[in-house]
Amino acid sequence: MIELKDVYKTYPNGVLAVNGISIKIRQGEFVYVVGPSGAGKSTFIKMMYREEKPSKGAILINGMDLAKIKNSKVPLLRRGIGVVFQDYKLLPTLTVYENIAFALEVIEENPKTIKKRVMEVLDLVKLKHKARFLPTELSGGEQQRVSIARSIVNNPKVVIADEPTGNLDPDTTWEIMEIFKEINDRGTTIVMATHNKDIVNNLKRRVIAIEGGKVVRDQARGVYGYES
Ligand code: ADP
Ligand code: ADP
Repeated sequence: MIELKDVYKTYPNGVLAVNGISIKIRQGEFVYVVGPSGAGKSTFIKMMYREEKPSKGAILINGMDLAKIKNSKVPLLRRGIGVVFQDYKLLPTLTVYENIAFALEVIEENPKTIKKRVMEVLDLVKLKHKARFLPTELSGGEQQRVSIARSIVNNPKVVIADEPTGNLDPDTTWEIMEIFKEINDRGTTIVMATHNKDIVNNLKRRVIAIEGGKVVRDQARGVYGYES
């Protein structure tokens, strides 16, 4: 359900960040994207939610070719894809509840459905009791839980995560991984770029290793494979 066909990305300054990647990811898979700094992981991840456009090749997600869709269709695409960032990217003036509800309000979902869905995802990340808090009143791990709740409130088929535990301590990292595992167990595809050797080697899933903009390894229940 995600397919990259011979994808290249050259930045305007001439840097070739992705140098011919072809992969398939089936619905419901959990995939780690690993590799050294500068390998092209972020570029690969950013192309999957159309933050960057490929220079060449096709990226098929939810039946759309991201290389071809018009800018006006990007919001529609993003509704089918949840995105989680290392630095959470919560709106600082909105409460936890409002941060999550926002994605449903912009599509003019009815208020009853919004309330139901927001409370469901807050329950999943165990933060119902902090619905009225502001992001600054939460720990880093709690902020990341809010950001994960926000990413799934639309029931996306795919969640893309770029270093989601990069700012968290080991205990909090495992709490966050439990949530991703739960979301994946419910059938959502997860694609996660990570530098966390401990996670990859312990919660064994498919590993796609990227170096120099190419896939150098693709293992079903893989290992991290680098010193970190
Ligand atoms: P990683 O996430 O594995 O560290 P990136 O995808 O961020 O790798 O970077 C791959 C290469 O592309 C690097 O050489 C990096 O300097 C370059 N690069 C990343 N983003 C940009 C950009 N916006 N403009 C130009 N070059 C970039
Ligand atoms: P991260 O490493 O947290 O994924 P970025 O993707 O922003 O952060 O940057 C990764 C690499 O890409 C870094 O080496 C950075 O210097 C380089 N890079 C990012 N943006 C640009 C840019 N506009 N021009 C050149 N290099 C860039």
